[in-house]
Amino acid sequence: MSGRCRICKSKLGTRNHTSRMKTNTGLCVSCLRNPIEEEQCVGITSKGVRCKLRKYKDAQYCKVHMWMCNDA
Ligand SMILES: [Zn+2]
Ligand SMILES: [Zn+2]
Repeated sequence: MSGRCRICKSKLGTRNHTSRMKTNTGLCVSCLRNPIEEEQCVGITSKGVRCKLRKYKDAQYCKVHMWMCNDA
């Protein structure tokens, strides 16, 4: 397991609480909270703006907007 964030390459903490969650994202906390554009859901929110949530694994949408991919 690499200990580097795959976006900003900062070293992933081993003593912060995220390590306990066994997340497999390879991202540091700040990148998890602020996904880069290509990591973001491509869904449009009810307000008509781009969804800022991280897209779900292997999908173009987050869990909230996952239904949008059904009519593709
Ligand atoms: Zn990072
Ligand atoms: Zn979304």
